[in-house]
Amino acid sequence: MSSLFLRTLRDAPADEDIDSAKLLIRAGYIRKEAPGVFAWLPLGLRVLNKIEGIVREEMASIGAQEVHLPALLPREPYETTHRWEEYGDNIFKLKDRHQADYLLAPTHEEMFTLLAKNMYSSYKDLPVTLYQIQTKYRDEARPRAGLIRGREFIMKDAYSFTCDEEGLKECYRQERAAYERVYQRLGVKYIIVHAFSGPMGGSESEEFLAPLPIGEDTFAQSPAGKAWNVEALKTPALSDVDFSATPVPFDVATPDAGSINDIVTVLNAQAPRSDRAWQAGDTLKNIALTAHYPDGHAKLIVVGLPGDREVDLKRVEACLSPLEMSLATDEELAQHPELVKGFIGPMALGPQAKAAGVERPVEYYLDAHIAKGSAWVSGANTVGRHTLNLVYGRDFIADGVIEASQLNPGDMSPDGSGPLSFQRGVEIGQVFQLGRKYTDAFGFTVLDENGKAVPVWMGSYGIGVSRVLACVVEFHHDGKGIMWPVTVAPAQVHVVMAGRSDAIVSEAEEFVSQLSSKGIEVLFDDRRKIRPGVKFNDAELLGMPVIAVVGRDFEQNGTIELRLRDGGEPQVVPAEEAAGRAKEMVDHLLSQYDVN
Ligand code: ATP
Ligand code: MG
Repeated sequence: MSSLFLRTLRDAPADEDIDSAKLLIRAGYIRKEAPGVFAWLPLGLRVLNKIEGIVREEMASIGAQEVHLPALLPREPYETTHRWEEYGDNIFKLKDRHQADYLLAPTHEEMFTLLAKNMYSSYKDLPVTLYQIQTKYRDEARPRAGLIRGREFIMKDAYSFTCDEEGLKECYRQERAAYERVYQRLGVKYIIVHAFSGPMGGSESEEFLAPLPIGEDTFAQSPAGKAWNVEALKTPALSDVDFSATPVPFDVATPDAGSINDIVTVLNAQAPRSDRAWQAGDTLKNIALTAHYPDGHAKLIVVGLPGDREVDLKRVEACLSPLEMSLATDEELAQHPELVKGFIGPMALGPQAKAAGVERPVEYYLDAHIAKGSAWVSGANTVGRHTLNLVYGRDFIADGVIEASQLNPGDMSPDGSGPLSFQRGVEIGQVFQLGRKYTDAFGFTVLDENGKAVPVWMGSYGIGVSRVLACVVEFHHDGKGIMWPVTVAPAQVHVVMAGRSDAIVSEAEEFVSQLSSKGIEVLFDDRRKIRPGVKFNDAELLGMPVIAVVGRDFEQNGTIELRLRDGGEPQVVPAEEAAGRAKEMVDHLLSQYDVN
């Protein structure tokens, strides 16, 4: 440490919001260079290399072959798949001196498809899985949470090519199993959830989410143990409601009703029900959203959902991908005079508006919690009025049914096993059965046994290598610092030389050389001018799994203190036994991460 390029900080950087970012910067593992852009310092790079090493071993174990493609790529392949536009502002685009368009790759499906297509043409060449560990670029709208949402970050991306769907499923199964081993070896908890494929396309997809409250994803679990990203969760189909006894719609005056609760209060006073009181869930609230196309233009849409539920823009986006949603502003709403703020009802929207002669009606989407035949109270499209007995399927229809509302604890699971429960998670990996989206786009076929051209099936598989490093810290830290799992720690044992007498210095050096000769990786705090207290704090902050102290105890009793960073009683061991004991501790820790 006397020569290591390292400066630990006493205080956490003020502009970081989560523990892993604060600690990695304080401990001198990384440095922020710009929003979402980080430099790796010596200790941080060692951890990164160890994580990459584990990923490489598990990729090798399933026969995936490593390659390395450029990050700077020409526009054309991304035009072919429409992702040049679909990724919109999320890709960094640039021009060369001849004004040709380039991008910094956010992911590499296009280039791997072309690579395999250019090299291979026969069924005998397949299956093949290629991967790289490479720097990716995404101009994220909100770079945050340190390494978790970077604009430059490191991803392991793998791509499988097979002659048929069966082959694809087999590659997918193997990748998925390799991912489980990777995360176990990294000491990261994960939940595998059914996922939404997004602009990536394809059919089946699952995400690996690290269950952490700082996560931006929400996932739902059923009592039977199935899990879904809420973006991918389909509301179980509702049975139709018999509306034969529902009278025709009529309006009531709801003058000052600004909120759903106000409307319910007015209804219970002005038009009480005979069976029970009106509730928020009897109202159909219509929310105006601005839908943004990747090319920058936008349109207004309205989603209708039960008044006791909240709109969930991410779920709307998942249904209407690649459109991105925001709540419509008053100015945007004013472009459509037929929509009366606070009193928007289905009769002014979509198919109903069209039937009434509105030239370009606002598209209307209904939430999947609205049953065919159910009756609703909704805006009358006139200030101060609402309509009762609006029956879906009789009085109004929509342009589509989507998942528009937030799910609530207690909502039924799609597998019918009981109510859903919810947690937050960080996406640390995703696996996709892409099918033929990319291979068809580039005309990648191979000749089968009979010399006939058959389409190639593709899968793609990503691990957020730098993001998962931050998640390791999220799971393994305390108030004093990091507590690395032994599998990824920059060193296995941190030797603190606590004192500068000749006896202490020579014993510390001797101890370090004994450890090294046993194959143990050591970080040696040999700094002479630093007080022991400061060294102990640094050892806690830096987080090597075993901490050894050679200090006053050695001088007085000939002992060395050994302890685990993440707890337990210190062991005081005669100096001559200390290296052997340290080795046992390291081996024991390693055995906890053995996946075979
Ligand atoms: P997110 O939904 O978090 O934006 P994504 O679904 O767009 O991620 P993928 O295209 O599936 O990401 O990329 C594969 C993996 O790369 C992700 O599972 C994640 O671990 C990692 N990753 C994606 N975006 C970032 C980022 N901005 N910074 C760090 N890692 C990222
Ligand atoms: Mg993803």
